[in-house]
Amino acid sequence: MSDTTIDTKRKIHKIVIVREACISAATCVVIAPVAFELDKDSIAILRPQAMEMDDATLLMAAQSCPTQAILLFDENDKQIFPAL
Ligand code: SF4
Repeated sequence: MSDTTIDTKRKIHKIVIVREACISAATCVVIAPVAFELDKDSIAILRPQAMEMDDATLLMAAQSCPTQAILLFDENDKQIFPAL
């Protein structure tokens, strides 16, 4: 029996993009192209496969946003990032 534990439970359950805060920098798209794309107005939107992206990459994408326009929530709807 191994003493190594791997936590496979997902932490991020919801992603919200605050459209008014998005300045089209597109770093989220560069870091997590499976999850984000820019719409016709060059504002970030979620792609249908967004939740297939792993938590670490989603967090990195949210952290990369210069205006913190990407909010991440856990299963209890508690905001994970940016920390409140
Ligand atoms: S990184 Fe932020 S500002 Fe840039 S496109 Fe994504 S959500 Fe918009």
